[in-house]
Amino acid sequence: MILGNDPILLTPGPLTTSPATREAMLRDWGSWDAAFNRITQSLCADLVDIVHGDHDYVCVPLQGSGTFAVEAALGTLVPRDGCVLVPNNGAYCARIVRILQRLRIDCVELALREDEPVTATALEQALIREPRITHVAQVHLETSAGLLNPLDEIAAVCKRHRKGLIVDAMSSFGALPIDLRASGIDALVSASGKCLEGVPGMGFVIVRRSVLDASEGRSPSLALDLYDQAAYMRKTTQWRFTPPTHVVAALRCALDRFAAEGGQRARGARYARNCAALIDGMQALGFRTFLRADAQAPVIVTFHAPRDPKWNFSDFYAAVRDAGYVLYPGKLTQVETFRVGCIGAIDANEMRNAIAAIGRTLEQLDLRVQ
Ligand SMILES: *Cc1c(COP(=O)(O)O)cnc(C)c1O
Repeated sequence: MILGNDPILLTPGPLTTSPATREAMLRDWGSWDAAFNRITQSLCADLVDIVHGDHDYVCVPLQGSGTFAVEAALGTLVPRDGCVLVPNNGAYCARIVRILQRLRIDCVELALREDEPVTATALEQALIREPRITHVAQVHLETSAGLLNPLDEIAAVCKRHRKGLIVDAMSSFGALPIDLRASGIDALVSASGKCLEGVPGMGFVIVRRSVLDASEGRSPSLALDLYDQAAYMRKTTQWRFTPPTHVVAALRCALDRFAAEGGQRARGARYARNCAALIDGMQALGFRTFLRADAQAPVIVTFHAPRDPKWNFSDFYAAVRDAGYVLYPGKLTQVETFRVGCIGAIDANEMRNAIAAIGRTLEQLDLRVQ
């Protein structure tokens, strides 16, 4: 039996959803149900609209977590003899490299520090150094540190050099402005359970129609073949293979709430307020952020761990969890850190409550931050 309120998840997904979004899952749907398939279609149309995909782009939903959709996009959209440049400033970039290796697609890494956004100049130099590069795979918001890469500048370089561009916009989609019009972007990948505040279980790829149309028969995977998924859906209105029905229903509700809130601008503004409240409060407790302010996205914040020799993330996590807040471990290779998310159905007041709980936990565990 669960007593009291559920804990607040200060994590980058799964995250805290609204009660209405959770209630939308209290109904079973059949995969042949025309009403269910209309929900899928309306979702896809709304997702294309959020990034101004207009008529040139189509949304292909896919069962699974976000990584499934990233792997599907790379395996379906990049030709076998392609070569992909991956600017690498964190764990999700590294995951793209591993996917490409599994797919046996040639790949070139542009190595960056985990606190260093890619620049147009560095990207351009890498493209000039390796003329065999056909595509760039770019993580927009590197969730492992919370780092924002400058998507518009990256897209402009790719367009100028006529390279395909596949963007992992997993933790930015819906919160940060993305405009596909005239961007030259081939495909954007995201998922239900991040800034759209749905529950996890469905990824999606918003792909330029002409790029998708040219990808028939290319995917080495059956389940992750985006072309087949889109073709089957176009023909039958149904998902190919069992759809995540409850996840789809919850995302429909979450997107209605997204629109009611005021769309991407309002969502991004709320997260920015959450992030400012978080950083101000944590700095007042003595914590330092890992990233410079200009590289920090308002989605998840990495803090340096306290220098106190008594520091142990698991103990700290458990004590803050007992106070009702779920933190996230660090994901950096070099320095000891932990992360606090500022996305989900929460506001700045909730962030201040979380900081108060963190402050009490420091006292309780007798931890000095500096
Ligand atoms: C969450 C996330 C993913 C997908 O991770 P899953 O664990 O498969 O959901 C991919 N890229 C980024 C940048 C992410 O934040």
